[in-house]
Amino acid sequence: MTDPTRRVLLLPGDGVGPEVIRQAQRILDLVAEHMPLRLEEAPIGGASIDETGHPITPEVMGACLGADAVLLGAVGGPQWDHVPNERRPEAALLALRKEMGLFANIRPVRLRPALSEQSPLKPEVVRRGVDMIILRELAGGLYYGPQRLDEDRAVDTLVYERREIQRAVKRAFEYALRRKGKLTSVDKANVLSSSRLWRRVVTKMAPGYSGVELEHLYVDNCAMQMVLHPEAFDVMVTENTFGDILSDLGAALVGSIGMMPSASVGESGPGLYEPVHGSAPDIAGTGMANPVGMILSAALMIEDLGGGDLARQLQAAVDEVLDAGCATVDTARPGVVPLSTDEMGRRIAGAFADRIG
Ligand code: NAD
Repeated sequence: MTDPTRRVLLLPGDGVGPEVIRQAQRILDLVAEHMPLRLEEAPIGGASIDETGHPITPEVMGACLGADAVLLGAVGGPQWDHVPNERRPEAALLALRKEMGLFANIRPVRLRPALSEQSPLKPEVVRRGVDMIILRELAGGLYYGPQRLDEDRAVDTLVYERREIQRAVKRAFEYALRRKGKLTSVDKANVLSSSRLWRRVVTKMAPGYSGVELEHLYVDNCAMQMVLHPEAFDVMVTENTFGDILSDLGAALVGSIGMMPSASVGESGPGLYEPVHGSAPDIAGTGMANPVGMILSAALMIEDLGGGDLARQLQAAVDEVLDAGCATVDTARPGVVPLSTDEMGRRIAGAFADRIG
């Protein structure tokens, strides 16, 4: 009989990473009372450089590959800015993505009602709702094509193989089927050959997903439509760089980068779950970090580990606490006393514990 225990590796990392991951750990301790979970922890990024001289050791990489899921805080900070590129904290993330075969980065962009005033959108746009998933292709595209930098000339290359597009787009269609049934494929097919292949592949796959309404948008128009008509989006799928940029636009729409979770997944094997924000060295150690993006990343992980009901209860617990007016510094309305990272984590864990009994 196979062991049903799910092994989760926690990688707190640097800056606010350890502060927010402690709040997710509080939640996971509660989850462990309802499904078999084993939590382990390892250093990554600057913390690992200080301990071992490397941003990630082969042992930690092995532990990530052997886990059922990996939950990451954040890596990086000014104290490691002087180290050579391949030894910087951020190199650990690139190595992890590559070794774990992660090719789809999923970023839910949902403006929670309690934060409507924090969104830069006009109230009448907010009222129509902001609730979409951006699926960014993570393993190819402009960031991974051959590059060259000479004194007076530089080259970046955007290369895609059909199968790289197919595997990411398949995930996006599957998400759309489980949600409102709309998929927006974002490209620049009026200019780029790689986009023309992208569009051809997506169009060819569409008949296999008859429950999904497919639309194609050029990336420049997409950025505009996200601000003017965010309610028109359900699931979006796009090239690596386009997705990187559009998901930051999404982070602005939901009121704070501290609210945004993400999941990165591959064909099989463990997924990597992390908040969208970085190590925020400017607020590290002050208790000002918002733990919600981290906690919602844990919710995505719990869902993928088979705890769909628990994940839904966790989402509801976050809404309940935000609706009660609780906020950290980044999301507090004028006149509201902000909670510390720890207190916000406690409140969400309390609401979650009440819900799951
Ligand atoms: P950042 O996301 O760390 O911070 C940007 C701004 O958002 C800062 O003002 C910060 O205070 C604020 N912020 C971030 N997280 C917050 C939270 N949870 N609650 C409240 N406010 C929050 O991005 P940056 O300043 O560009 O980068 C800082 C370091 O993080 C760099 O070393 C960078 O390389 C690294 N980084 C790591 C990751 C990652 O680990 N996945 C991602 C992005 C940046």
